[in-house]
Amino acid sequence: MKPWAKKFYKSKAWEKCRAAYIIKVHGFCERCDKPGKIVHHKTWLTPQNINDPNVTLNHNNLEFVCQDCHNEEHHGGETAASGLIFDENGDLIAK
Ligand SMILES: [Zn+2]
Repeated sequence: MKPWAKKFYKSKAWEKCRAAYIIKVHGFCERCDKPGKIVHHKTWLTPQNINDPNVTLNHNNLEFVCQDCHNEEHHGGETAASGLIFDENGDLIAK
């Protein structure tokens, strides 16, 4: 986990928001209907938006996904298409 995101992911506000969202989508991956695991932010969190509840705690910006679908999102097509890749620390860098 990125150091700047730690405080957010440990916050009560996120815990509540996440739990409410999982209940709302009945606990299944929104992409493939397997049991979900990760609440993903459609607009990825950055050091710039991490303190903006309209991004971090907005149900419209959340998607509940399983591990497989999450990996695909963060290591698959979209990342490559936008010219970004993950380095060995899990940080996004330009190709
Ligand atoms: Zn899935």
